[in-house]
Formats: sequence, structure tokens, C-alpha cells
Amino acid sequence: MSRLAVVGSPAPGPAPAVDPREVPPEQWNDWRWQLRHSITTGAEIAARLTLTDDEQRGLAAAGDLFRVGATPYYFSLVDRDNPSCPVRRQIIPTWHETRVAPGELDDPLGEDTHSPTPAIFHKYPDRCLLLVVDRCAIYCRHCNRRRLVGGDSPPTRDDLEAALEYIARTRRIRDVLISGGDPLLLSTAKLDWILGRLRAIPHVEIIRMGTRVPVVLPQRIDDELCAMLRKHHPFFINTHFNHAKEITPEARRGCEKLVDAGIPVGNQAVLLRGINSSVRSLRRLMRDLLKMRVKPYYLFQGDTVVGTDHLRTPVESAIELMAGLRGWMSGMAVPHLVLDAPGGGGKVPIGPTYIEELNDATVVVKNYRGQRIAYPQPAERDCRVPYDDVFFAGEPDDDDREGGQG
Ligand code: SF4
Repeated sequence: MSRLAVVGSPAPGPAPAVDPREVPPEQWNDWRWQLRHSITTGAEIAARLTLTDDEQRGLAAAGDLFRVGATPYYFSLVDRDNPSCPVRRQIIPTWHETRVAPGELDDPLGEDTHSPTPAIFHKYPDRCLLLVVDRCAIYCRHCNRRRLVGGDSPPTRDDLEAALEYIARTRRIRDVLISGGDPLLLSTAKLDWILGRLRAIPHVEIIRMGTRVPVVLPQRIDDELCAMLRKHHPFFINTHFNHAKEITPEARRGCEKLVDAGIPVGNQAVLLRGINSSVRSLRRLMRDLLKMRVKPYYLFQGDTVVGTDHLRTPVESAIELMAGLRGWMSGMAVPHLVLDAPGGGGKVPIGPTYIEELNDATVVVKNYRGQRIAYPQPAERDCRVPYDDVFFAGEPDDDDREGGQG
């Protein structure tokens, strides 16, 4: 069975560099060079900074837990003198990863039980996930799909054909999210082929891609890629910045290139305890995203994946942090705080409660400053839309069946 080749597998040779000044710009700016020179071992990391005891123990255990890896570009953002650096904490495991806390799961989102065919997760009624690759340009310590990524079992061509066939025969799928691993590690030609096959399915209205490449390998976003992606509109990208430190000139250039190609780019951040879990840090992240035209979309409460208890915030802290965003900054910059319910329950919005009282006559709300204000209810309560019968004449109702059923 042929497998989808990932561009730029690590090459044998001297230890990768992490300082752009040590590398000719034509190499540093070449995304294939970045991938070939990824930093993947504890020894390579230890050669570049002084590890803490926690980090040493984490790296020693990582072989049995979850792969380690980052591009030289992303590693160059590490604060070598401070183990609390938000970039460093996403790259280097600590011994805490060896612990399995009560309730932690290998597959916290119940994806494997919603997989009608390899390479497809179909949980919600009208959208599904298509896994095209199992490699990433970084192995994030909070990854909720660590059971699948970084291994040596990428989806095969047969898996992909079966997945495309499933999407083609499941007419209620309107929206396909291409994911992995990181799809932008595939060659542009391979991605073009996959997107073209999806676009040929009449009921697929929206194609989205989840990728951390704008954060960890922005050199990948070149003219050739953008020209190819824009052929497949309506096409959306959701990326994954977690801290304003990641928003470098290179990352900004990459995101702006995508947006200039007409691709709406959203951000799905994960709330990470001690990494971005302050109002100040989140406000800066959301504002800086918006400045480069990336819309803050989700802020995820940490998933209950094994070995990540130390990275999760208490839910009440997450709610308090949200209260420090909404109203205090542009609504455009405020993401939805969601908790992905363990076991496949789906995304549940959580956040501060703004309604204090509600009856047929009045609603009392509390605004972002804590002031109580009464809102009078309307006299009429019938919300049916008479024109629906005209506008939707002859159309079947939406098919709201769950995921992969028949
Ligand atoms: S890039 Fe995404 S899939 Fe890959 S390790 Fe990070 S969170 Fe997981």
C-alpha cells in the first residue's frame, strides 16, 4: 500500500541549528530545510540550552510517551534562560507527562468510536474530519491526538480513497475539515489532488484545514501554495497560536499571505495553565491575532488527554479569564470558550453567565462591568417565520442524524 509522502523527512548529519544568524537565509527560509533539520531528540535540545531536572526526566521518558520535535525556526523562539517560556513549554516535555490523572483518556474526544472508515472521524451531523497525514512540524505537549500523530502509520492511499468514497456517498456532509497531523506537510501537488477530489463532490460546500504550520513553519506559506489553495474556495484555515510570542514577523507574513489569497484564517488556541492562562497574555494574543487578520475562533479548555493534567486550568479559572476578555476588548477579538466533552460529547460553550433574572416581562442582565440592567421583553412571543414555507419550498429538512450512521 502506498503512503502519502511527507516532505522534508529529517536528514542524517550535523545537529540542527537554531540561530538564523548561523544559517544562510536561503536555507533558513526554505521550509524543506526547516523540516529536514528539525530538532527531535533530547540530546539535540540539551546541546542548545540547560535543561531543568523536570525537563531532563520528561525527555528521558518521552520515547515511551509522545514524540518530541520542532522546527529550527520555532525552536529559535525558545527562551534558553527561562523554563517558563511559553514556546519552550510547548516543545519540551516535563516529568509531569509520565503521570496519568483520574479521568484522563487516550482518545478524550471519542474520535475512534466515530470512525466509519480509516481516516474519517464523523461525529457531528453535517461535517467530518479527514485525516491525511500523521506527522507535524512540532509535537505539542498538549496534543489531544497524541495517540495518532508522530507515529509511522500515516493514512495509506487506500485509506484515503475509502475516505473520499465515504464522503461522496454521505450526502449530509457539507463541510470537510482536513486534518492530521499537519496537512501542510504534504506536498502542494498532493494537497491539490486531495482538495480537487473533495471539490468534485457536489454536496461538499465548505473545505477547512487545521494546521499549526503558520505558527511553527511559516516559510511553508509561499506563493505556489496560496495560488493552489485559492483554486478550491470556499476554503478556510484554522490555525493554532497559543501565545503572542509566537506572532513573529515571519508568522505574520504567512498569515497575511493566506488572507490576501482570500482564505479566512481563524485561530483555535488552547488554554494552557502557566503558559497563557492570564488575562494579560490572552488579551495580547487575541489583539495581535486580529491585527494580522486572524480571527480568534475558539479558546479550548484543555482536553482530558493522558499526561496533560499539569497543563489544564480549573474550569472556573477559564470562565474568569473569559470575563476579562468580553466587553474589555473588541468583540471581534473574543473567541468562544469551549469544553470538548470527554468521550465524544462534542464542544460545549462555557463562560460567564450574564443573565441574572429572566421572565416574560423582563430580563435582568449583568454587563462586563458588573452593572445590573433590565431589558424589557417584547409583547409578542410567536417567533415562527411565515416566509420559510416559500423560501424553502420543495427542500427536504436538514438531516440531523449523528455522524456515521447509515
Ligand atoms: S500540531 Fe496539532 S496535531 Fe500536531 S502535535 Fe500539535 S496539536 Fe497535535
